[in-house]
This record gives sequence, structure tokens and C-alpha cells, in this order.
Amino acid sequence: MNRKRLLLCSILLITVVACSSTPSSRQERSDSIPEGARRIMEAYPQHVVGYENNHIIFWDGSRMIYNDGIKRTTEQMHQQQDVEEIFIYEYDITKFPPEYGYDPGRYRCAAFFEKIYGDTREKIISNLVVVNWCPKLGGRPILFTSVAGAAEALQRVSDELDQHPEFKEWVTDAQTFNWRPILGTTRLSPHCYGIAIDMAISKSHYWKWSYPHATESTQIEYMNTYNMEIVEIFERHGFIWGGRWYHFDTMHFEYRPEMNPIKSKEQEGVEQQGISVGNVDPAIAEELYLNLFDVKQRDSIRKEFKAKFKKSIAETNE
Ligand SMILES: [Zn+2]
Repeated sequence: MNRKRLLLCSILLITVVACSSTPSSRQERSDSIPEGARRIMEAYPQHVVGYENNHIIFWDGSRMIYNDGIKRTTEQMHQQQDVEEIFIYEYDITKFPPEYGYDPGRYRCAAFFEKIYGDTREKIISNLVVVNWCPKLGGRPILFTSVAGAAEALQRVSDELDQHPEFKEWVTDAQTFNWRPILGTTRLSPHCYGIAIDMAISKSHYWKWSYPHATESTQIEYMNTYNMEIVEIFERHGFIWGGRWYHFDTMHFEYRPEMNPIKSKEQEGVEQQGISVGNVDPAIAEELYLNLFDVKQRDSIRKEFKAKFKKSIAETNE
């Protein structure tokens, strides 16, 4: 009798557990997923595969809290923030010039971006590929991350810019991957992830160069003389522009498809064919890549690079 009762209890318990776990599948109903989490899933579909109980779920099954409930000042958000705070300002191109404090996309959840792009220099470097940057305008090949479609997006930007001889003086000093903290901070710059490009630096304005003594909360005057046609081309391909920030950085473009969703084929017109990431002179590409390493490491890297370079060509020819 006792054994029977125990068995019955066990069955009931199993049923209760099974029932309670049924509604919370890997992904909640789409109408209960917060807007920001939904955008993250759409922008990084190969990396973020679900959302459940205030956590985003990555491809490897690991989870990251979406909204930790902590209210931070802007100064604090620069040090640490959760995923939800990425969206604290909507990237709205009509809010221009930017009002006091309006910095859409400038707050980056470091833990999230490290998960997507890599949390060490080595991991990030292993994802860099060569973009054939504006060859008709005299540009040089540059390195960008292949993760999340970033390099493909930058190659599309380049292909469009390259049709405009009048942009020549804007594209020739492009700088992308650079392992450095943001000026005056210990935080990694988005240039460390290989998702940012600085361009036409001599024609640009950066708030910290214009106001070397200003803090995040100082009132400053907005400055910009950048070519807005170029800005428009970047923005069409999933990039955000640092010139839309109150803390202006007008040379700076950053691949952020969650802030500025890439327009669909229908909206964009005819999709370009044959994106040629890696389609550059192998010797130039190799040189570019080897420069990331110190002399001692270069022999072993050279072999790895040859395999990688072939692979990146093969991938883009599909
Ligand atoms: Zn930059």
C-alpha cells in the first residue's frame, strides 16, 4: 500500500513538473518578448537563439540576463550595463542635431558584445577578414570581423561608395580594427571587436578633441561638417554613425544591426550579388593580417592565414 502510494505520488509529482515546464519552452511567445530582445534576436540570429525568463539564450545554450533591474546613471552605464540598456536611446535619424545627452548606440553592453565577437584579442583576430575597401577610389584593403555579417555589410558600403569619384578624399584614410581602450577610459573600444571604422579623420569632429576638459555631463556645442551622403550609405547597411551622438564622433561608423536594422531586399531594391569579402591581392591581405602579430609569431600565423584566406574566398563565392 505504502509503495503504491509512493508510486502515485511520484507520478503526480512528475506530472506537475512536466506541466509547469511546458509553457516555458526555449522561447517565450513572441508578444511577451521585450522589443530590445526581439531586435537582438533578429540582428544576430546565428548567435542569439531565444529568450526566456528575462534572459537571452545564445547558440551554445548559455544565458545572459536581459534586464537586471538596476537603475544606472549615464556615467555608471559607461562602466557597466545590461542588454536592455543598449536600447536606452532609439537610433532616430530625425533627432538631429542631437539634444543634450542623446547618444543612441553609444552605450554598449560589453558582456554581450564579447559573447558575439570574442572576449580576447586572439578570438577576435581569428574572425577578422579582409574587405576590399574602395579600390577605385584609391582605398586599401582593411580588416573587419566576419561575425554577424559585419564584413559583408562593410563590403556593400564600399561597393556603393566606390561608385562616387567625389568621395575619394573621404575614404582613403579608413581605420578599422585597433586593440585599444576608448580615450580616457579603461573600456574596450568597438574598434577592438572589428565592427567599427573611422574615416576622413581630418574632416571630422570628436567631442573629446574639441573639449578636452569636458566630462560626460558637461554641456558642449555640437560640431559636424561630415558628408551626409556617405552617412546615408552606411546607415542603409546596418551601421550607426557617431555624428548622431551628443558626444559627437563624426569619423566613426559602427556595425550595429540591432540599433539600425538592415533594410529588407524589397526596401533596398536589387540585392547586390557576389559580395567580394577577401577578394583582394593575397599578398596585401597577408601583410595586413601579419601586422597584427609580433615578429616571433608570424611564421606559424602565416600558415594559418593561408588556410583562412582560401576559406574566406570559398565562402564568399557561394
Ligand atoms: Zn571610431
